[in-house]
Amino acid sequence: SAKLASIGELAAGVAHEINNPLSIILGFTRLLAKKSSFDPQAKEDLEMIHSNAESCKKIVEDLLNFSRQKRPQHREADINQTIESIVSLVETQYPKGGVTTIRDYDASIPPVKMDIDKMKQVFMNILMNAYQATDSGGSIRVSTHYDEAKDGIFTVFSDTGCGIPKNIQTRVFEPFFTTKEPGQGTGLGLAVCYGIVQEHHGEISLESEEGKGATFKIWLPLDSGRR
Ligand code: ADP
Repeated sequence: SAKLASIGELAAGVAHEINNPLSIILGFTRLLAKKSSFDPQAKEDLEMIHSNAESCKKIVEDLLNFSRQKRPQHREADINQTIESIVSLVETQYPKGGVTTIRDYDASIPPVKMDIDKMKQVFMNILMNAYQATDSGGSIRVSTHYDEAKDGIFTVFSDTGCGIPKNIQTRVFEPFFTTKEPGQGTGLGLAVCYGIVQEHHGEISLESEEGKGATFKIWLPLDSGRR
């Protein structure tokens, strides 16, 4: 938690400072692109500057989201509906041929008090990672159930993707830990998930075997704002 907080502060500072010059770069590339006097090569170069500046903007946004210490707004929610809104969004926005999504929602689970927007971000980050890790022919199972002993809701995301080697399993929740190519990942997704689930007094855990997929389990108490 301490590591998250101090990195969060640093990240917020850097992201804030970079945001303004970046907006100026993007603004001017847009202006230049409107000029018709450029030859095709120059237009291509300009497009390159623009798309890379857009990538930087996405990283800055991730950093700002990561560090934003907004207090959670707990509202009663149907967790199945909340998850389904993300699952269907990911399926339509980032369709991936040959990957099957299996829904296994327990319809009888009670409502949960949670910060809906923050938990949507958790589900989104985990689901996007699962999609990225899973090749054609694989599947992603999303399930929910109420656990009486723990008096809370479990949400489980299980993919048949590449899996996570044992030696990095403890590191994936660390801020900035990523195995993705530069520009593909900031390593903040799971750190954000960890922070949000902690704020809800819940638990997040990972089980995985290299080559055999990964399972992320999130447990949330029924009233995560009360404790
Ligand atoms: P990023 O996606 O930007 O790399 P994350 O914090 O979301 O950052 O993930 C950290 C790392 O955890 C990823 O780079 C990847 O190596 C690993 N990872 C996360 N989810 C999965 C998954 N479902 N299957 C395989 N590896 C995963």
